[in-house]
Amino acid sequence: MRIALFGDIHANLEALEAVLTDAAEQGCSDHVCMGDIVGYNADPSACLERVRESDWPVVKGNHDEDASGDHSLDNMNPVAALALRWTRDQLTSEQRDWLRTIRMVRQVEDFTVVHATLDQPQSWNYVTNKFDAMSNFSYQFTNLCFHGHTHVPRIFVRDSRVTEVEASSIVIEPGMKYFINTGSVGQPRDGDWRACYVIYDIPTKTVTFRRLEYDLATTQEKIRAAGLPEVLAERLAEGR
Ligand code: ZN
Repeated sequence: MRIALFGDIHANLEALEAVLTDAAEQGCSDHVCMGDIVGYNADPSACLERVRESDWPVVKGNHDEDASGDHSLDNMNPVAALALRWTRDQLTSEQRDWLRTIRMVRQVEDFTVVHATLDQPQSWNYVTNKFDAMSNFSYQFTNLCFHGHTHVPRIFVRDSRVTEVEASSIVIEPGMKYFINTGSVGQPRDGDWRACYVIYDIPTKTVTFRRLEYDLATTQEKIRAAGLPEVLAERLAEGR
């Protein structure tokens, strides 16, 4: 069994389609979504429907929560808030109800999935180094946990201590714990503009990162046509 794990789609339909095509070519039979289906980019409805109709296991991201509610967005980054207000207007009340029902944490096969961290999923903490990862491990009861939220692919491993491992592929060893950020499909922030996701091959216990070019020009055109801030189109090309 090969599972495609992807998140932080952020309403980027071209990137999502590229990931799904590649996952099919790579022989993935199952899919798991790490959340943040909407926000920032111009295809929230189409991306939401793609995830919903497929009935994949999905966990809630902070943008899914913000797009589904009516609460004030005034203390957010102004560009993200503007895109979220626009997103709220694009979605039907029924689509927003569906976003609201998404669970915060799920267990799938032999691993756990969360958008941010397991210690306080609703606090949306950012894990940018091994010190941030430590509190998550205290609440991680499976060998392997996948997450997203920072839009940067990373591997944290806990043996007798916590380390960050730089690799494009890793074999999951028994007795160790792994907290793996699958990167972002629709708005990577590690300086590489290509869509990012991972494949978990269960028979060999191997997790492999995939990077894919997609039709960036079309995504940028849609952002401009929607009247969303130009910076959202530009940052996609820079991968930040
Ligand atoms: Zn995100």
